[in-house]
Amino acid sequence: MTSNPLLAPYACDPARSRGRRHAQAPAPTRTEYQRDRDRIVHSTAFRRLVYKTQVFLNHEGDLFRTRLTHSLEVAQLGRSIARSLRINEDLVEAISLAHDLGHTPFGHAGQDALHGCMAEHGGFEHNLQSLRVVDLLEDRYPAFDGLNLTFETREGILKHCSQAHARALEAQEPGGVGQRFLLRQQPSLEAQLCNLADEIAYNAHDIDDGVRSGLLTLAQLRDVPLFDRYRSAAQAEYPALREPRAQRRLLNEAIRRMLSDQVYDVIDATQRALHDARPADADAVRAAPALVGFSAPMRAQSQELKRFLFRNLYRHPQVMDMTGRARQVVRDLFAAYVADPGAMKPSFAASAQAAEGADARARVVADFIAGMTDRYAAREHARLTGRQLLA
Ligand code: MG
Repeated sequence: MTSNPLLAPYACDPARSRGRRHAQAPAPTRTEYQRDRDRIVHSTAFRRLVYKTQVFLNHEGDLFRTRLTHSLEVAQLGRSIARSLRINEDLVEAISLAHDLGHTPFGHAGQDALHGCMAEHGGFEHNLQSLRVVDLLEDRYPAFDGLNLTFETREGILKHCSQAHARALEAQEPGGVGQRFLLRQQPSLEAQLCNLADEIAYNAHDIDDGVRSGLLTLAQLRDVPLFDRYRSAAQAEYPALREPRAQRRLLNEAIRRMLSDQVYDVIDATQRALHDARPADADAVRAAPALVGFSAPMRAQSQELKRFLFRNLYRHPQVMDMTGRARQVVRDLFAAYVADPGAMKPSFAASAQAAEGADARARVVADFIAGMTDRYAAREHARLTGRQLLA
């Protein structure tokens, strides 16, 4: 039994958390995962997400998703699925809201560029950076660095991790969040769910933002069976949606149907997997194969949609042009701060001065750049180089 009778036996139970790295007395009215969620919402890194890119750069338009609205959509999808599966909604919400905290400015382009800059210094992985943010970089408490979150939230935040980084984490924190990558085990159901909710959210909103930007058309989306099914069903039920002026409503209705269907698919497929595996508790989940997922047909269609977005949106010449410039900004910033650490914000300049060795100094520079919003990075770049790459 879990401490909350509404939760299934395989849900993460805050009363049985593996705890925090620094022991703290329980809160009088909130569970440990509610507390994690609250700490994340009040963090500086969370507020920065509003000015960080998902696909489109932050200054390209006010209606595009940012990392903040993306994270809220992931939390919404995750919570609705979690409630049906009777797993822990508070934990799902905490992980969802924190999952992108380590993202650099300029989305994947920024992260790839920073990874390239850090190649000689241990590399840069955004999931690991999200963990660094909540474990080290937030400075809010007198007694410790970071937000001191529970093991279960940190486990969910560290969605992927290379073997080399997992070994390093394991050395610092034996039996901690790096261990599962070495044992090739799964995380909690709540963490598995956040992963999938992330994918459902960005597939849907990238269609929406893609069409809004004019880089994708509804006609092109006829090639995507997963989307086309809901578009035709919507038009069959509401013939007025065929009219040109109803295109935005048609797009919204098709996406809404697609999201609902994917949510129901995950709930059904996961319930079947749980029924077959019958995990006795949250630890049995970690030893079992992945249990949260789409049905096989939905998985195939979702992958097809992903491929479509890759070819037609993420690789669109206009997006590629912008991401090429964003990469250059990150590389220039990295070179400038490595050459002159004093050009960083005073707290980072001081950390760089105290850092021992080139790797540690480069890591301070990477932490500083990773924390930047798109517009702060663009401004810093203009200040340091005198060039305007992103106007
Ligand atoms: Mg995400």
